[in-house]
Amino acid sequence: MELIFQSTRNAAEKATASEAILKGLASDGGLFVPERIPALDVPLSGLAQMGYKQVAYEVMKLFLTDFSEEELKSCIDRAYDGKFDTEEIAPLREADGVYYLELFHGATIAFKDMALSILPHLLTTAAKKNHAEEEIVILTATSGDTGKAALAGFADVPGTRIIVFYPKDGVSPIQEKQMVTQRGANTAVIGIRGNFDDAQSGVKAMFGNQELAERMKQHGFRFSSANSINIGRLVPQIVYYVYAYTRLLGRGKLAKGELLNVVVPTGNFGNILAAYYAKCAGLPLGKLICASNDNKVLYDFFATGVYDRNREFILTTSPSMDILISSNLERLIYRIAGDDAQKNAELMGRLAAGGVYEITPEMKERLEDFAGGYATAEQTAEAIRSLYEKTGYIIDPHTAVAASVYSDYAKKTGDGTKTIIASTASPYKFTRSVMTAIDAKYGSMEDFALADELSRLSGTGVPRAIEEIRGAQVLHTMVCGREEMQETVEKLLGLQQFINS
Ligand SMILES: *Cc1c(COP(=O)(O)O)cnc(C)c1O
Repeated sequence: MELIFQSTRNAAEKATASEAILKGLASDGGLFVPERIPALDVPLSGLAQMGYKQVAYEVMKLFLTDFSEEELKSCIDRAYDGKFDTEEIAPLREADGVYYLELFHGATIAFKDMALSILPHLLTTAAKKNHAEEEIVILTATSGDTGKAALAGFADVPGTRIIVFYPKDGVSPIQEKQMVTQRGANTAVIGIRGNFDDAQSGVKAMFGNQELAERMKQHGFRFSSANSINIGRLVPQIVYYVYAYTRLLGRGKLAKGELLNVVVPTGNFGNILAAYYAKCAGLPLGKLICASNDNKVLYDFFATGVYDRNREFILTTSPSMDILISSNLERLIYRIAGDDAQKNAELMGRLAAGGVYEITPEMKERLEDFAGGYATAEQTAEAIRSLYEKTGYIIDPHTAVAASVYSDYAKKTGDGTKTIIASTASPYKFTRSVMTAIDAKYGSMEDFALADELSRLSGTGVPRAIEEIRGAQVLHTMVCGREEMQETVEKLLGLQQFINS
């Protein structure tokens, strides 16, 4: 049965899966959502016998119904290959009574690789299916990890260009080095004088600009998105929750039907939304625990039902979660509004105008699957240090936010349900914060020396992604103001001359 997608802001704007992937964002500014969440149709005991790629196929085929079996399997094969440093793709590591689901074994050592290694293949397949002739321009705003993962995925992919905007002073030194050394004739990386929300708002404004779209078309371009607003990012993220659950089931760590809690360090709400979709598809997940850093707009939302972005933007040690406008929350709001696009559109209108909205008591009741928590920078550092001292296992600051929130949650609620923590980045990506959390003496060491020291302490090899950038040449040096983003894009694409002529 074909699954149709529609905009969260207008029930009349419909798309097939491949059209939704190609467009990225609906033309009314809404996000594409499936009209219903399909149910898993292979028993979990069967999935437990399959490898990552097979599980990926069984999950993704339910959502991407207009892709043929051959197309989808080909995308999956090209994505989950030797770019990952383990055949398990997403291994589980038990430490201190919980399971860490390590989602950072791909090319750029953050969980974004889980979806961005397949998105270019889904997108180029979607373009072919829809006879889209234009060159696809991927416009991306990044809080640090999406940018590099998208660059790696799209570099030198024929028929595509990729333009990444990142907050110039808002990413880790390693994150920045990873991006500005990116090769590929079709890549551009630009630092903006602003924060992630500025970058994301600027990108969304370009997507919503019909006049710009028209001029793009005349020049043979069309925009698409590699951000988690693209449903093609979200669907591959559902896979690893199903995979993790069925690994534990297969190993006898979970009984049939036993619930599993999930803790997710959250920024744009994409990763945790994928867990929610997995639960709606029938995976026996218990609480979905949304962990925030000091930018705790989501924690406050779950506590009060009020979403209020009017607050100071705080730069933390978990920069990929430094976000005040969590785009994917819109998909949840739509759902708890009873799949009511008009109601959702009204709330999003309030967010755009005044930066704040409040959901109704009935909607709040539908949030019972979720729990919210947050961790300060000190609590995050403490979580890294104490886990290391107890077990020798070293986690990155984003994962540590989740670990800290989880231990708080377990203490407060006494909930003893088995739990996985989504481990979203390798500690090698954030060596400075990680190593100084373990011991202040590392503060004086240089970034790459810290990577070697981390390797010594953890007994893990320095990942290829770090070795690659050690001596790499900086290839991207462009910086612009947040109001200059569109102008920059037009110049890069050669549109500006056209207006003047
Ligand atoms: C992107 C990112 C997050 C936040 O994920 P969302 O899907 O945006 O909520 C958390 N941790 C790391 C390391 C990330 O790169």
